[in-house]
Amino acid sequence: MFVQNIMIHTVTLIPGDGIGPEIADAMVRCVDATGVHIHWDRQDAGIDVIATDGNPLPERVLNSLRKNKIGIKGPITTPVGTGYRSLNVFLRKEFDTYQNIRPCKTMTGVRTRYTNVDLVVFRENTDDLYTGVEFQQGQPSTKELLAVLQKLNKDASLIRDDSGISIKPISAYKTERIVKAAFEYALSHQRKKVSVVHKANIMKYTDGLFLEIARKVATRYPTITFEDVIVDNLCMQLVQKPELYNILVLPNLYGDIVSDLCAGLVGGLGVAPGANIGDTYAVFEAVHGSAPKYKNLNKANPTALILSACMMLDYLGEKTAAARLQNAVENVIAEGKDVTYDLKPTRDDPTCVGTKEMANAIIRKLK
Ligand code: NAD
Repeated sequence: MFVQNIMIHTVTLIPGDGIGPEIADAMVRCVDATGVHIHWDRQDAGIDVIATDGNPLPERVLNSLRKNKIGIKGPITTPVGTGYRSLNVFLRKEFDTYQNIRPCKTMTGVRTRYTNVDLVVFRENTDDLYTGVEFQQGQPSTKELLAVLQKLNKDASLIRDDSGISIKPISAYKTERIVKAAFEYALSHQRKKVSVVHKANIMKYTDGLFLEIARKVATRYPTITFEDVIVDNLCMQLVQKPELYNILVLPNLYGDIVSDLCAGLVGGLGVAPGANIGDTYAVFEAVHGSAPKYKNLNKANPTALILSACMMLDYLGEKTAAARLQNAVENVIAEGKDVTYDLKPTRDDPTCVGTKEMANAIIRKLK
């Protein structure tokens, strides 16, 4: 929206819970300091709003995203095993943000075992085991399903009747669009190679389909090198020679696991940004979770969410501001002075600064 010739972007801001509100505050101050005009439509969500809204993801949050079409969120806690299902997974499904994009690049000043990692993970975000079609052990519906499976497939006789069962759908349509997105990104970001990751040797009709479709899509991009790699082999190769990889495209579950591995290659979760992008909506978020033990301690590293905001500025067409903010973050980290505990040589380094102070240092670099 333009007001008196000034472009104002409206963005849904979901600070999240745990360390979320602190890093979201740091991110907002840094983005505002670039001079880009953003109207932040703040919508609280997560465990802290259950008492007031009766629900961790109130309808007002969804309505705000529906209206604004773009959001940035801090992490949200998901109780393990019990309670509500992941709100993050729900948001990705609801808004069909099928591309989960996670760039992993080594930065000067971040201690890692490698100096030369520069890859981007494209994780499919809406298919695979994350569709959440699960059957609980011992339930009548699980027994019924098992009886049907055993009729249809002799290998199902190996499934014990005290099993829980998850369904892993991989569709041609969803595979095609994520692989296409990875190739389009390769073209627009001058990247040379796309590697499709799978376990097609074992799961022939799901991962096999993912590979088959990826191969077809690759034929439309003759200038980009294409290869396929089995996920277990990829993990070993990433640890030994991460520089071999440029763009990885994976089904949902492998993408979740491998993107954390890749975050580890470049210095950990504190510096790993991400984006969930679809054809209509986009939600930007750090890879890390809500780190509840650091809540309200002004200790968490805001870098990952600030770099996610750089991806958001880029998406909004504010490319100069995105590059300036990225440079400011990289300079502060390279200097190594005003950085949080996790970026210091030892975790109890007394010279570390807090979340707010690191954001202040980034803002000073922007001036
Ligand atoms: P986590 O990412 O919260 O923490 C893993 C480790 O990294 C911890 O030691 C933590 O202290 C550290 N860490 C994470 N972010 C940091 C930061 N910015 N600065 C410094 N250190 C940081 O993962 P977890 O402990 O497995 O998950 C905690 C909760 O977060 C769970 O409920 C999980 O479901 C949720 N989660 C949410 C998201 C999301 O909202 N996108 C993503 C992952 C996990």
